[in-house]
Amino acid sequence: MLLFKKAKDLGIHLELQRKKGEKFGFVPTMGALHKGHISLINNSKKLDDLSVSSIFVNPVQFNDPADFEKYPVTLEKDIALLEAAGCDVLFVPSVSEMYPNGTNIKFHYDLGYLETIMEGQYRPGHFQGVCKVVHRLLEIVKPDNLYLGQKDYQQCMVIKKLIELIGMKELIHLNISPTVRDAGGLAMSSRNMRLDENERIKARAIYQALQAIKDQLQKGELATIKNLAVNILVEKGFKVDYVEIAGAGNLQIAEKWDGKQNLVALAAVYLNKVRLIDNILVNGN
Ligand code: AMP
Repeated sequence: MLLFKKAKDLGIHLELQRKKGEKFGFVPTMGALHKGHISLINNSKKLDDLSVSSIFVNPVQFNDPADFEKYPVTLEKDIALLEAAGCDVLFVPSVSEMYPNGTNIKFHYDLGYLETIMEGQYRPGHFQGVCKVVHRLLEIVKPDNLYLGQKDYQQCMVIKKLIELIGMKELIHLNISPTVRDAGGLAMSSRNMRLDENERIKARAIYQALQAIKDQLQKGELATIKNLAVNILVEKGFKVDYVEIAGAGNLQIAEKWDGKQNLVALAAVYLNKVRLIDNILVNGN
């Protein structure tokens, strides 16, 4: 695996490969890698000639400075995991490499409704920061395939919109991989490293609450099953930011179900000081 720290050097290397006709897959990450991230690399290995990944803890997407400071960093282990998975190229830029004009430059991506709900509502500015970094990474790497995880459902929709906004829709194919979970159902997340053993066991309740929505789904009003999931979480001691049921294709919050529409149930909770998110499709694929 080749490791690049400078965007220019990476660009030159990738351009040479592109001239040979190679197709690239790209897996952007913030490091502290786990099996969820590696599943994206595995998918790229199946489809692409060259698998490129990046590790960059993007300061501009953290609305909470304490969350940024405590974000786990495990670079040596990450490199070993990526090598073992057969990743070809890793980009590990510094903040100044990603933001040569500084991080305070004003920018705005018109994400519309998507930015007003759930993660957009509870983490103001978060998706603008995500778009900023993904835009820059896509311009550097110019991948044919971009791999994202369903774990961050709303982020997948935001990045799909970003790709349209920056005119790369015809160039980049978006691949969304299913959420990888541990044996107890907890969605793998870098933030799980901040949980102790008991907290990890407790955190299984997030998936259980979402499963309860799936099990209880019936035509008509959805408020009761949403409350059921909230209660499961509150009783276990979580602070709930939201539990929502939304259209799987557009994330419009659903108050009722017509028995046909594909829905996704999403939750964001705090377990002590650690914020965790998860989602499941409650019907259809
Ligand atoms: P992150 O490092 O958290 O920014 O995540 C990098 C990519 O890995 C994103 O596309 C995530 O959605 C994806 N990802 C994170 N956790 C999982 C998981 N448990 N299963 C599948 N993909 C994941």
